[in-house]
Amino acid sequence: MNRKYRKTVIAGNWKMNMLASEIKPFMEELKANLPKTRSCEMVLCTPAVMIPAMVKAGKECKVAAGGQDVSSFEQGAYTGEVSASQLADIGAKYCIVGHSERRQYHGEDDMLVNAKAAALLEKGVMPIICVGESLEQREMDLTMEYVAYQVKAALSGIDASQLRRCVIAYEPIWAIGTGKTATAQQAQEVCEGIRAVIRSIYGARPARAVSILYGGSMNAKNAQELLAQPDIDGGLIGGASLKPVDFAAIIKATDQD
Ligand code: PEP
Repeated sequence: MNRKYRKTVIAGNWKMNMLASEIKPFMEELKANLPKTRSCEMVLCTPAVMIPAMVKAGKECKVAAGGQDVSSFEQGAYTGEVSASQLADIGAKYCIVGHSERRQYHGEDDMLVNAKAAALLEKGVMPIICVGESLEQREMDLTMEYVAYQVKAALSGIDASQLRRCVIAYEPIWAIGTGKTATAQQAQEVCEGIRAVIRSIYGARPARAVSILYGGSMNAKNAQELLAQPDIDGGLIGGASLKPVDFAAIIKATDQD
């Protein structure tokens, strides 16, 4: 983390878990376990139907609500889709785009991720843009090349003023939901590389200000070491964000200075 230049973000990805009726008790337990002062932005990304309940319940603890996906289209005959303006209208502050599960199960490619990020920025919702390599790519020593391509593609056409509202999440696919975490050194190396890619496009100042998160089996035990890395500005957390005590422990781990 480097709080001097950028914000620390701890974002939970609930995926297709929980019910709207479970949000209030979750927030009560979270509140009971949170430190009194927090120096990070807290976000919980829920299925779209649960965002209004999260907006309401999150107010007291200052937990922002986020979506997990958005349509790249503005409006119209796209049955089942949710638009960026609809997300903004119900109070979503953030929205994940390009999560590896969307890429894997819904065939999302980098161009679509780029269009979704642009659609969100247009409506004032901050995209959390996910990138990350597969195990095969890591073993073939293609990690940085592949991740650099994903970052460049996702940010194509996004100007420096919009970049300030983007969050990047480095999530090695092999670490998501597997219990296998990247070592702090592996995660730092790629996050540093992502910042270098952003620097090559936008220059030093914008690159220094972008929050880059690590995601992939982050938990109460490993959070501190990961968050101590200079280019890791927070976490995108799946499994551990479903448990208020664990999520609170990760938030506590951001207070290390
Ligand atoms: C995720 O889904 O973005 C994620 C990082 O999941 P987990 O923390 O469960 O690995």
